[in-house]
Order: sequence, then C-alpha cells, then structure tokens
Amino acid sequence: MTLRLDHFIGGAHSAPADGGFLDSTNPATLETLYEFARGTVVDVDHAVEAARRTFESAAWRRTTPTQRGHLLRRFGDLIGQNADDLARFESEDNGKLLREMKGQLKGLPEYLYYYGGLADKVQGSQIPTNSPEVINFTQREALGVVGLITPWNSPMTLTISKLAPALAAGNTAVIKPSEYTSRTILRLAELAHEAGFPDGAVNVVTGLGAEAGQALVDSPKLAKISFTGSTGTGSAIAGAAASRFIGCTLELGGKSPNIVFDDANVSNAAMGVIAGIFAAGGQTCIAGSRVFVQRGVYDELLEKVTQRASSIIIGDPMDPKTELGPLAFESQLNKVADYVDIGVSEGGSIAYGGQRPEVDLPGYFFQPTVLTDTTNDMRICREEIFGPVAAIMPFDTEDEVLGLANDTDYGLAAGVWTSNLQRAMRMSQSIDAGTVWINMYRAMSPMSPRQGFKNSGVGIEHGIESMHEYTRLKSVWINTDEGAMADPFILGR
Ligand code: NAD
Repeated sequence: MTLRLDHFIGGAHSAPADGGFLDSTNPATLETLYEFARGTVVDVDHAVEAARRTFESAAWRRTTPTQRGHLLRRFGDLIGQNADDLARFESEDNGKLLREMKGQLKGLPEYLYYYGGLADKVQGSQIPTNSPEVINFTQREALGVVGLITPWNSPMTLTISKLAPALAAGNTAVIKPSEYTSRTILRLAELAHEAGFPDGAVNVVTGLGAEAGQALVDSPKLAKISFTGSTGTGSAIAGAAASRFIGCTLELGGKSPNIVFDDANVSNAAMGVIAGIFAAGGQTCIAGSRVFVQRGVYDELLEKVTQRASSIIIGDPMDPKTELGPLAFESQLNKVADYVDIGVSEGGSIAYGGQRPEVDLPGYFFQPTVLTDTTNDMRICREEIFGPVAAIMPFDTEDEVLGLANDTDYGLAAGVWTSNLQRAMRMSQSIDAGTVWINMYRAMSPMSPRQGFKNSGVGIEHGIESMHEYTRLKSVWINTDEGAMADPFILGR
C-alpha cells in the first residue's frame, strides 16, 4: 500500500496547502512506495514562519548551549535506536545497498554527539586594545532561520552534517530534501522533535526543487542557505543569497582524480579505485572518476580493476551479498548511459561494462564501466557523470599527472597511491582539492572539515569550522573610563 506523507512543520505533520502530492518510486523494484507532499510557497512560508517564531521564542533563546548539547545527544541516541528502519527507508528510496546504509547509520549518531559536544565550546575571544580603559571582545551568535537543501545520494548524512551544527549554534531550520528521498528526512525531523527540540526548531517541506526549493531560497526571512547538490543549482542559489546579502554554504559536484604511482601497492590501489568509483554506484560527489595510472603499473592495475568489476554482484540492494544496486532514478540511468556513448564517440574504448546488466528486478541497473583510450580533455573527463563509470588513463611523470589532476573545473577530492612519503607529501600539497587521501579513499568524519575548492563549493562542512558557518561574529567595545569624553572629532579609542 502506498504511504502518504505530509510536511513536518511546527512540530506536527502538515498537509500541503494546495493538496498536491508526488509519487516516490523504489529504483530497484519500480514500486511506488509513497506519496509525499508537493510543497509550494505557502507551505514554505508556513515552515519559515514556524522556525522564525521558535527562534525568537523565549524558550529557545533561554536554552543554554549545554542543554542544546543534551538535545543533540538524545537525537543521536534516537537515530541509533531507529537505525534499522532508517537504513531500510533510505535503501528503498535511492537504491543504496542496505549494508552500506547500515554502516552509515552506525556513524550517523557521531555527528550529533560531536556537535552536541561542541555546542558549549564555540566562543568568541578577548581582543587586545591599545587603550588600557577599553575592552574589546567578540561573541558568536546564532544566525536565525537557516534553509537546508539536500540531494538524494546520501540524504541523511548530508542533512545531519548541516542540521547538527546549525542547531548546536542555536539556529532553527527548514529543510527541503530531495524529491527522490524525502522519507528519511521526515523521520529525522520526527526524531528531533521526540528528542525534545521545541516545535518549529526542525521543519521539513518536501517537494520539487523548482517549487519548494526555489520558494525556500526566495524566502526573505532566511538568515542563511546551506545547499548540497549540483554545481548548476548551487550557482543559482549563490546568486540569490548574494542578492540578499545572506550567508551561503555550498557543497557541489566533483570530478576527482585517483592517482596510482608505480611504487604503490597495486592490489590496494585497485581496491581504492573500485571503492572510489563503484561503491554507491559512483553516485557520490567524491567519486574518483578520473583514474591516472603510471605507465609501469598501468596494465596490471587495469587488469585488476576490470577483473574485480566483472565479478561485482549487481542486484537487489536489500540482499547482503549485493555489491552494486540500481541507479537512483530513470533520468540518472539515461544520463549515465548517454555519457558512456559520448565517451565512445569521443574515441574511448569500453574495457568493461557499458551495458544494462541481466538482473531479475526491473529497476535502473547499470554495469560498472571502465573506459580506456580516454584523455583528460574529453567530456567524460570534464563533466560529472555521477555513476559507475571510470576513465583509466596512463601517465609518465609526477609533474605531468599533477597538471592533469588539477586541469579540471572542480576541486572536491583526490586520491594518491604511493609508497614514497616525500611524493605523498608533495602531491597532497600541490593538488588543488579540498580533501586529499593518501593510500585510501572515501574517508569522512564529522571531526574533519571539508571544503570544495573551485566549482566544488563555498564554505566548510564538518569540524569546528562548520559551527562557525552557522554563527555570526559580533565585536563588543566597552569604555570603562567614566571620565569626560575626549575630542568627539577624532576616531574613538
Ligand atoms: P540538484 O542540484 O539537482 O538538487 C539538490 C537539491 O536542490 C534537491 O533537494 C533539489 O530539489 C533542490 N533544488 C533543485 N533546484 C532548485 C532550485 N532552483 N532552488 C532550490 N532548490 C533546488 O542535485 P542532485 O541531483 O540532487 O544531487 C547530485 C549533485 O549533488 C551532484 O552534483 C553531486 O556531486 C552533488 N553532491 C555534492 C556533495 C558534496 O559534498 N560536495 C555531496 C553530495 C552530492
């Protein structure tokens, strides 16, 4: 039976103002799982107003940082207690492997514990002055209502990465999840409420990007927008935020290089290449889609990667044996298939994959695909495919590969495989990307700040730095001298 889901506004489920709903489909089985509210500007206004009232309420303002920390930790505990359901909902929504989601759910409460711990540790500082009678200090203040807009590929982690620091800093939030993956985000809002956050602290308006998302971006009462999604949408959102002079954090796309040197442990590097591009079906912003391999180990690495790709078990994401589930929706499947065709038409060769596999489910499955005879200037090496498609290219020297790695509009992440410490250090210093992994790939933690360079983003997520993104800094000056004022026409001391 199809489940009908309303928005979550002001601590309660809230039917869409104009009565519209959208279907959501399981990408493996193509069953319609539920209908979620199709948000409009009226719903968004309602949610932003609820968040604003809560932000300005005496109850929320009187919540101490330590109390907010407790609320976040309780929220984390509830996520842990509901992990099995949340993992299943997310797999059903976007086709990610259930076992991957279970692993992610184990780590998710850590985000709440981390920011719960930071809630009472974000502070200003005392600034020296050149007048003994003048005191100057800074304080960090919450911003107000923040709008959080998130994509479908890792809905819970990407939403919690924003929501946890936002709440820890004392803001209230309106979340617009992806139209493909709203179910877990609605459940998270219920759990935040159950944890004790007041009505209106966490609100969710579901619906389409062009409707609910745009309405949220346009809301004049927002103090900040934090967005994770494609570079094109991010650019439009940055423009809207700039026009109203409000803050904006953007986590955008990537075209990350994964670089294997001759001196690497080639078996591990091959596993790192697989993890970088085939885990989660390559539907990750950090996908290592451009693989550069030093010529001495090129054949060996290609052989290992294609061998392993050919043995990847494709199928039902709920089956613990499955290694590759479906792509998240039909246009995503078509986009991936089109990019493989583009790669071939540009001169690339398919070393493995490139087809829809035989699977006893009707969903949007696509083979893990390895392309060779590609060059870094081809479209498949310049544009984000967001699917399980790797271009594997040889190189000769460190300087050459550094040039190739940095020759991209993006700057999200990079992997380097080498046993040479000096080289590892040189590469990590010279690669123009916000995250560099050496002899590993895809590691992430709430404690470690991450930033997209170039077209991959603006601002920082995770770490203490992310708390700062959800505060504003006020400078307070105090004259302790009660004596007569000096000359009013010279700069105040
Ligand atoms: P998307 O830009 O299409 O959508 C992201 C969100 O924005 C969705 O909720 C969508 O409804 C909303 N949206 C769309 N148009 C909007 C508009 N005009 N105004 C307001 N909101 C709007 O991205 P997607 O396809 O959902 O996600 C995939 C993209 O996300 C990829 O490019 C990927 O690289 C990127 N991503 C980046 C990171 C990172 O950390 N850098 C992490 C995950 C995903």
